[in-house]
Amino acid sequence: LKQLKFPPTAPLPAAFPPGTFLMMLFLPSVVMALLLKTALDDARLLTVPDGVPAPADLLDWRPFGLVLLWLLFQALLYVLPVGKVAEGMPLKSGKRLKYRINGFYALLASVAAVGVALHQEVDLSYVHAHFLQFFASAALLSALLSVWLYVRARALPGEDLAPSGNSGFLLHDFFMGRELNPRVGAFDVKFFCEMRPGLIGWLVINFSMLLAEMKVQKLDSPSPAMLLVNIFQFLWVADGLWHEEKILTTMDIVHDGFGFMLAFGDLVWVPFTFSCQAYYLVSHPNDLSVFWMVAIISVKAVGYYVFRKANSEKNNFRRNPADPALSYLKTIPTATGKSLIVSGLWGVVRHPNYLGDLLMGVAWSLPCGFNHVLPYFYLIYLLLLLIHRDARDNHQCRKKYGSAWDEYCRVVPYRIFPKVY
Ligand code: NDP
Repeated sequence: LKQLKFPPTAPLPAAFPPGTFLMMLFLPSVVMALLLKTALDDARLLTVPDGVPAPADLLDWRPFGLVLLWLLFQALLYVLPVGKVAEGMPLKSGKRLKYRINGFYALLASVAAVGVALHQEVDLSYVHAHFLQFFASAALLSALLSVWLYVRARALPGEDLAPSGNSGFLLHDFFMGRELNPRVGAFDVKFFCEMRPGLIGWLVINFSMLLAEMKVQKLDSPSPAMLLVNIFQFLWVADGLWHEEKILTTMDIVHDGFGFMLAFGDLVWVPFTFSCQAYYLVSHPNDLSVFWMVAIISVKAVGYYVFRKANSEKNNFRRNPADPALSYLKTIPTATGKSLIVSGLWGVVRHPNYLGDLLMGVAWSLPCGFNHVLPYFYLIYLLLLLIHRDARDNHQCRKKYGSAWDEYCRVVPYRIFPKVY
């Protein structure tokens, strides 16, 4: 989810970093444009919205307060002594930070909170009606959070700083994030933001869109298209939170500082762009035949199977290559002592997990039909992201494994799509 890195391994800027500055303007503008256009009846890519709302119209104390309340609620769930405590990867100092792994419980508690709100007849479609204000509030809070992160990092010792976010150029460091693991006591701000308010918030947004659809389209029950989008994305987030501990080995947690890039990505980009299909369906209904529904569910099921099996197989193999349960795998030894899997899904393409993720993205978008490209925003973004990520990984693996990697590429020539790419 957290690949808003442009470029991912940026060399230090020579002077004022215009790229970073443009990116800080570009990212919020993209989200704003997506939201404004998706709300139009004629939601074509090239349609120009009537105008951009004035800042005074975008900032409303009520949505702002609700976003703040949501962050506090999730923070409260995060600090509850429920769930196991896991250790992160060793830091430069050799120390390993401890993380409370209770994301799945936070999801269950959030579902219960939404249930209570419904029972109390709270109108959750309010989120849809004030979506731009919610977006602006989240963007403002992510900017304020980034300022706080930048300022507090000034007094830190070198070992707490992220290599990528300490060039000495304010804007660059503000964007990339100076501190590696900002914490208030045991509360890890980066880990919290990566997995909780944005991801679970995305599901609440989707659900509010479902209620808004019923209201706007005067339906007694949600449309099948809206239901599919809600269920698919709920399952994806639930799966991610179920496997929450695995994020501790990702680049975001291990290498990246926590600055505007990740704060905006976690709190704004994910909830407000990944919900594009549900937002679109509120005002652009799309009937689905039973045949289409079965086809879409099948794509999702195949995508999930490929995604989960590929990731689990590799993770289990990396954790314990001698596991007898994995003895069926064929492997290529490398000079580093690690081996590369060359059979099963990892023998079909070099990134079957990306293929599975993309198939799921297809299944999320298809319920919106083919009238407009906007509900395919996530899919297009994911495709570009994963192609870029694959190229970077390929480069790193070639450096790491040398001729063994070349041999793997010879045996498994396709990167993501069998016989295509
Ligand atoms: P991978 O999980 O594919 O990790 C790549 C690493 O796996 C390589 O560097 C190498 O590391 C190891 N590896 C590669 N090939 C083999 C092999 N044949 N056998 C054994 N090990 C191998 O990549 P990501 O971390 O990029 O992605 C993880 C998941 O997250 C994917 O499913 C992806 O789709 C998803 N994702 C989703 C995003 C979203 O926004 N939806 C964004 C980014 C990722 P080593 O050898 O050192 O172990």
